[in-house]
Amino acid sequence: MKILIVDDSPDSQLLIKSILNYAGYKDLLTANSALEAFRQLGMDNLASASTDIDLILMDVVMPEMDGIEACRLIKSFEYLRDIPIIIVTATAKDLQMAFAAGATDYITKPLNKVELLARVSSALRLKREIDNRKAREQELMKLTQQLEELNQILQRLSSSDGLTGVANRRHFDLVLKQEWRRAIRDATPLSLILIDVDFFKAYNDTYGHQMGDDCLKRVANSLKGVLKRPTDLIARYGGEEFVALLPKTDTDGAAALAEGMRAGIEALGIAHARSQVTDRVTISLGVATVVPNRDSSFADLVAEADHALYQAKQEGRNRVKSSSSIVMQDKSLVNEATLCKLSN
Ligand code: GH3
Ligand code: MG
Ligand code: MG
Repeated sequence: MKILIVDDSPDSQLLIKSILNYAGYKDLLTANSALEAFRQLGMDNLASASTDIDLILMDVVMPEMDGIEACRLIKSFEYLRDIPIIIVTATAKDLQMAFAAGATDYITKPLNKVELLARVSSALRLKREIDNRKAREQELMKLTQQLEELNQILQRLSSSDGLTGVANRRHFDLVLKQEWRRAIRDATPLSLILIDVDFFKAYNDTYGHQMGDDCLKRVANSLKGVLKRPTDLIARYGGEEFVALLPKTDTDGAAALAEGMRAGIEALGIAHARSQVTDRVTISLGVATVVPNRDSSFADLVAEADHALYQAKQEGRNRVKSSSSIVMQDKSLVNEATLCKLSN
């Protein structure tokens, strides 16, 4: 460990140096004045603000600046605060001031070899403990940060679909429940669109599974691009099916978005030679809207969207079917007021 001896007397310097050297301390620096010590500690170059000095032995009586003032100045620098300073003094009257200035310990002149070595050894032990504790703190901080990053990644992974990157079914189920409760509280409409790629089995059979996967990624990306509100959610519902959840969106709004999705996929122009609708990849969509109350169930909303999707398939695919009227009439889920809201 590195020790800096600050003393204006060459004899004193030499004595301390030889005692320490003899005891095995080889890394010894000397300074003839406080100013020179400051330079050795890097206080004239605050850009780097670091030092490898582990202990300072500071004489008190020196010209220009005395050791106690120097001690106070050194301790005012954050990066030097942990370096122990042993004051070397001829009179005990300086001690109170020395400790007030931040000194760790003292030795009196004339120097006693055993005492000097004992004090140096204990100050260095203290410094080593401080260094170790700081290193552990740093390590702990780094670990905590890594753990937070990992948690964020895990959170993202556990809520997103591995292939397409959009939300997965699990996440969708959670959000559906939340939005369902919110829609009940606020008496606002909640819309759901079920989306299914047309003749996708034939697509896989024709172009291979890998191309099928690429196609699903492009479809997911395009669907996501149609949604604008931060509360809108697109998720992979399973296989080649996707689902969009649209809070505070009425039948007409949802149908318009669904049509935008349909047109968007058609416009991608992904070749599909064996589609029976057209020469490219298309989707069919089923839309359902409800203003839920405590007696209704979100399973009904999904079932209605599924029913509408089935109709879209039956009627020729590459189209949007809305079943909000079914939800409203058959299940009696909305009252006059909400009907009014829906039509606005
Ligand atoms: P329809 O127009 O009636 O929806 O016909 P379809 O062929 O799309 O429907 P079907 O349910 O018969 O086939 C769905 C196909 O989607 C079968 C399955 O192999 C394929 N598929 C499901 N998930 C994936 C996937 O992750 N990657 C790929 N490449 N194909 C998938
Ligand atoms: Mg399907
Ligand atoms: Mg399909």
